[in-house]
Amino acid sequence: MRLGVEAALVRGELVAGDVDVEDGVVVDVGLAGGTRGRIAVPGFVDLQVNGFGGVDFLAAATEDYVRAGEALLHTGVTAYQPTFITAAESTIVDALRALPVNGARPRILGAHLEGPFLSPERLGTHPQAHRRDPDLDLLERLLEPGGVTEMTLAPELPGAGAVIRRLLERGVVVSAGHTNATAQEAHDAFDLGVSTTTHLFNAMRPFRSRDPGIVGVALTRREVFVQMIVDGHHLADETVRLVWAAAEGRLALVTDATAGASNGGGIYQLGEVEIEVADGPPTREDGVFAGTVLTMIDAIRNVHALGIPFEDAIGAATAVPARILGRTDVGVLEPGAAADIVVIDDRLDIVHVLCAGEERVVARD
Ligand code: ZN
Repeated sequence: MRLGVEAALVRGELVAGDVDVEDGVVVDVGLAGGTRGRIAVPGFVDLQVNGFGGVDFLAAATEDYVRAGEALLHTGVTAYQPTFITAAESTIVDALRALPVNGARPRILGAHLEGPFLSPERLGTHPQAHRRDPDLDLLERLLEPGGVTEMTLAPELPGAGAVIRRLLERGVVVSAGHTNATAQEAHDAFDLGVSTTTHLFNAMRPFRSRDPGIVGVALTRREVFVQMIVDGHHLADETVRLVWAAAEGRLALVTDATAGASNGGGIYQLGEVEIEVADGPPTREDGVFAGTVLTMIDAIRNVHALGIPFEDAIGAATAVPARILGRTDVGVLEPGAAADIVVIDDRLDIVHVLCAGEERVVARD
């Protein structure tokens, strides 16, 4: 099946010509033909999705993932990590047990546990009542159901080192977030194997001239990946440009989306927290930001509108998040790769979305 595109983004570079897909796999690129203004890019990979399309993943049954998944596919996401914020232990364990195991579309890469080992000083919207200091026994119980691929924690907390080591032994990516880590504490964490940061700048010790904190260290250590929310609210435009200048090629866009994303305004749950979606990002009763209603295609449009080149904006939503998880089978478009593809037009509107070669979404003109 030819996709009918003018070009494709292959390994970060635009290759002129059409793309051929057979049996769910990309067979060839650079073929004659195609429609002007249509470009195939890898399906988007979102490492932080709390909910979508009216579904809050912390309370979702397996069938709810079908509804949320369809809504995510419409925004170009073909692989993601359902993300569970800080909650009662039993709630998190139940949520992990409800994760679909096989064949979900979009692909479920594993769960991202955001908490409960977070800094009491940087909780944001996470419920204080369920925050815990790092605890190996609790960690074991949270890992027991399986499926955890990333954990966000505050590495400066007492006992965090042992938790980080255990997570790395289990192959779980450790991200520093909701943290008050100083520069030295951040260096220690990255030396230990923490490889990325959760929503850089948000819920984090701020950068100051003589106290650069974890932000300064993450931006200047070239092996550290940074993740950030570009919804036009969580970060000023200049902050996004600064991060891009410092961390280009190791920066992943995340949506931090909630149940209100692609579902209109109203009252929703984010775990145990009630949130209101009106104009702007969702807020808790006291006005604290509570995730977003951002979609990944809008995040890409937002950074591209700030002057970030198209190839780099797409890379931050595809290849980089895949690298953070050490996945070589998603976030790529090349012969031999699974056909997880978004076809966009020259206005960055989505025309088609394929997941494993199956045409799942076609734009309604
Ligand atoms: Zn957060």
